[in-house]
Amino acid sequence: MTIYQNLIAGEWIGADATKNINPSDTNEVVGLYADGSAEDTKNAIAAAKAAFPAWSRSGIWERHVILKKAGDEIMARKDELGALLAREEGKTLPEAIGETIRASQIFEFFAGEVLRLAGETIPSVRPNIGVEITRDPLGVIGIITPWNFPIAIPAWKIAPALCYGNTIVFKPAELVPACSWAIVDILHRAGLPKGVLNLVMGKGSVVGQAMLDSPDVAGITFTGSTGTGKRVAAASLEHNRKFQLEMGGKNPMVVLDDADLNVAVEAAANSGFFSTGQRCTASSRLIVTEGIHDKFVAALTAKLETLIVDNAMKSGTHIGPVVDERQLKTDTDYIEIGKKEGAKLAFGGELLKRDTPGFYLQPTLFTEATNQMRISREEIFGPVVSVIRVKDYEEALATANDTPFGLSSGIATTSLKHATHFKRNAEAGMVMVNLPTAGVDFHVPFGGRKGSSYGPREQGKYAAEFYTSVKTSYTLA
Ligand code: ADP
Repeated sequence: MTIYQNLIAGEWIGADATKNINPSDTNEVVGLYADGSAEDTKNAIAAAKAAFPAWSRSGIWERHVILKKAGDEIMARKDELGALLAREEGKTLPEAIGETIRASQIFEFFAGEVLRLAGETIPSVRPNIGVEITRDPLGVIGIITPWNFPIAIPAWKIAPALCYGNTIVFKPAELVPACSWAIVDILHRAGLPKGVLNLVMGKGSVVGQAMLDSPDVAGITFTGSTGTGKRVAAASLEHNRKFQLEMGGKNPMVVLDDADLNVAVEAAANSGFFSTGQRCTASSRLIVTEGIHDKFVAALTAKLETLIVDNAMKSGTHIGPVVDERQLKTDTDYIEIGKKEGAKLAFGGELLKRDTPGFYLQPTLFTEATNQMRISREEIFGPVVSVIRVKDYEEALATANDTPFGLSSGIATTSLKHATHFKRNAEAGMVMVNLPTAGVDFHVPFGGRKGSSYGPREQGKYAAEFYTSVKTSYTLA
């Protein structure tokens, strides 16, 4: 089998490889992907450092052409790359193709954004003196990505890093190297100069750690678990390095008595269970007021009955498998914890057998949960959702905000008053009214508060806040 290698200083290298396994069919090896070492990482950082002076001063048209070519090729290959994504990660083929389209759109957005780079000139308070405010790239950016969005998250970090003139060392998650390899191959062929984008696939504890330990990495953008995020933060403070963290969520969705029941059920089913609940914006706490509680639970349970859990590649599948055995164990452990804590298992909770061997789990709904239970406080990252009954809007809002996290927060209501109040008072980076808590467009800010995020927002024009450093220059006229 071919080994998909790492790209270091413009050369494909690496002989040791790890198997990329399909979670819908564990007999299938998606491919063999290089297992990089600390030495490889050091070489990649050195290459990115050497490439920085020229790339940071490269013409905006050169950058535009490369970003645009990448966006166009990803779109042209959306079905093939979507299938690769579905096979390595386990989300359904339509979800995977949708994610691939989004990755293309992100490259198209930054291909446009690079042509609009601008600064400001303002007068000084002193006469005959001008002030310019410009943005410089940071230098070498370390990109560390998780497994749940194998193409969109790499795209939304790589595209802005290149747009603003940075060079990159990129380490994708061990479980999903294929889409990352494909993006890097596309950008390499699109004409990126040697060393501007380096790919080092491999273990977090080896490759990731070597990035954290390097004084030559000027910025790290990380999406992953809270535990690793804290390590990134501690190591980055040590090196005086800029860092950006996107970590967990325990996103609430409030359902009020006056909600449109269909809208609430569709939003809750989508937020909680699509992509197998493996989105940091998934809602895992449904906070429901008394008057609609029983009707809502009955309608949501009826909806869950109709959802088909099966091989991600099969047409008609609504929910693919859990990503791997370790995550499946986490999910089933939490299901046991929920039962022991006294929540009522209203639906699911069982492993499923399908034609192909994979990590299939029923969508799982707990009712009679409290917000203090571990299943309501800790991120599970699977298709496991709790319903928490509350008296009224005020209790719902307080419960929604009573969490260590603050990524996305939703409400289903027909009341303008409550929707407006909720948007203003939800302690979250993103608020959704009558919509799933997941599903943020590619051109608007993405990020959260409290334990969910640290540093500037990702995506859209707000990405400049992380990938550049503002400079104030004075000139005597
Ligand atoms: P998860 O538990 O969801 O896999 P992680 O935070 O472990 O989340 O993984 C997110 C990313 O962080 C992955 O690319 C992983 O390899 C990387 N990672 C894990 N450990 C470290 C570490 N010590 N230093 C840097 N990166 C790491």
